[in-house]
Amino acid sequence: MGLLGLRAQALARADTAAAVSSAVEWPAGPVLPVPPLARVNARPDRFIRMSVGLRPFRPAGPRVEAERVGEKLVVHNYGHGGSGWSLSWGTGAEVVDLALGSGARAVGVIGCGAIGLTTALLLQRAGAKVTIYAKDRPPLVTSSYATGVWSPVSRFCLKSFETPALGRRWADWCVRSHGDFQTFLGLPGAPVRWVDRYALSDVPWDEQRLLRQAEARERGEPEFANMRDFAPSLTPEPEDLAEGVHPFPAPFVRRSANMVFNLTALSRRLMDDFLLNGGQMETRTFHRAGELAALPESTLVNATGLGARELFGDRTLIPVRGQLGVLIPQPEVDYGLSGAGFSMVPREDGLVVQTSGERDFGSDDLTPDRAESEGALLALAHVMRGMRA
Ligand SMILES: Cc1cc2nc3c(=O)[nH]c(=O)nc-3n(C[C@H](O)[C@H](O)[C@H](O)COP(=O)(O)OP(=O)(O)OC[C@H]3O[C@@H](n4cnc5c(N)ncnc54)[C@H](O)[C@@H]3O)c2cc1C
Repeated sequence: MGLLGLRAQALARADTAAAVSSAVEWPAGPVLPVPPLARVNARPDRFIRMSVGLRPFRPAGPRVEAERVGEKLVVHNYGHGGSGWSLSWGTGAEVVDLALGSGARAVGVIGCGAIGLTTALLLQRAGAKVTIYAKDRPPLVTSSYATGVWSPVSRFCLKSFETPALGRRWADWCVRSHGDFQTFLGLPGAPVRWVDRYALSDVPWDEQRLLRQAEARERGEPEFANMRDFAPSLTPEPEDLAEGVHPFPAPFVRRSANMVFNLTALSRRLMDDFLLNGGQMETRTFHRAGELAALPESTLVNATGLGARELFGDRTLIPVRGQLGVLIPQPEVDYGLSGAGFSMVPREDGLVVQTSGERDFGSDDLTPDRAESEGALLALAHVMRGMRA
């Protein structure tokens, strides 16, 4: 290749492991033993926080498209359901192309949650001057009340909207986002890290999946898309652990590698990076889309999450309530766990304990229900009591 050809190429490249199947025939290896696992101190007086967030769910999936509103080009990026953190860099990358394609160099981003912050950073990386306008910023946004795990298919869209075109787009968003998150590994405060997660079940996994689906129907949830046909292979295959290999009081135990977002550290890191890159932040509340006309930028990104319901009149947006109970951090607990009626995610800022509420779909009730978190904790405490040393 001549020098010019070389110059035209990128000088460095990092492919995500995503969607790359093994290049060689890989022999099945022995299952690694489970290392000693510290017990969670599962007592209700160790809760330091209970929070409720409303997932911005759109039956058709996130809205990522450009629209003319008066003199402005508005690029929408909202409606990510329970997948907002996971897909953030992916939908953000598409927004950058839509926003800067017309030659704009100054962009206003409305919203300072996961979507606003990541999109703003991507715009800066592409050379734009960015101002964030938002009513609230972390830690007072929905994004700060999320569980903090890689969950790109959680309440992403309804099954009836799952099409090959959306599937391909979703897969692209996943691959892009997954890759960007790897660049946050190993940083102080561990904004992103990988941990092993153990899933426990009393019945075989196929049966358990059907049980979960029946429970969800009883709670009034619609059928969400599972995107299985489009799923890129981004995480290692789960391993079934035989009895005696693990310390848990359950006949079926599965171990998988899980990407965890330590949301306190991650949000601060994103805000710090944005400001260090010369970004500006203004506290502003917009009551109608027409008010955006007063902003100096001619290109805007709408990253208002559930706020787009009122601001842009998107009545398809549905709140899906989710509650977290957070226990005092235990750095020695470095594994995730889930079982009947509970899940536990080990974050640096606390152990996040969660279960599904009775009527979360369509609920905008922001009041924490202590009984819900204590019920999940009780189920976790039961497992801890039965765990072998
Ligand atoms: C309990 C729970 C658990 C979750 N767990 C996960 C998880 O583990 N992994 C994952 O990937 N996702 C998870 N999610 C989903 C994720 O949190 C959301 O998809 C994500 O937070 C959406 O981000 P956002 O930036 O669109 O919205 P938000 O975080 O709500 O940000 C919206 C921004 O817009 C601003 N705004 C809104 N309206 C206006 C207005 N009119 N004027 C000015 N500013 C306005 C707000 O102030 C805010 O700054 C979870 C959600 C919940 C509730």
